[in-house]
Amino acid sequence: MATKSEKEKYRKIAELGCSLCRYQGNEGTPCELHHIRRGGVRSLSPVIGLCPYHHRGSNTSIHGMGRKRFEQEYGITEEQLLEKTESLIK
Ligand SMILES: [Zn+2]
Ligand SMILES: [Zn+2]
Repeated sequence: MATKSEKEKYRKIAELGCSLCRYQGNEGTPCELHHIRRGGVRSLSPVIGLCPYHHRGSNTSIHGMGRKRFEQEYGITEEQLLEKTESLIK
């Protein structure tokens, strides 16, 4: 279960919109929450916003292409998207 402060954080991340669209210059694309997997407990994994196109599109998304291809394709890593997201919600 997410705590109250985690929910608040998720709400802010969702409000920012897709982190990759933002990086490409399109702010505020409606997004879904994507958990970054670091091999630990899922509920503790950090979260970024990704629009459906960048989240689960077959050849355009982190889940469709896999993290490595996604990062090559867009020239930014998942961790960098996380850093940008975190810096915006402080
Ligand atoms: Zn997007
Ligand atoms: Zn995801």
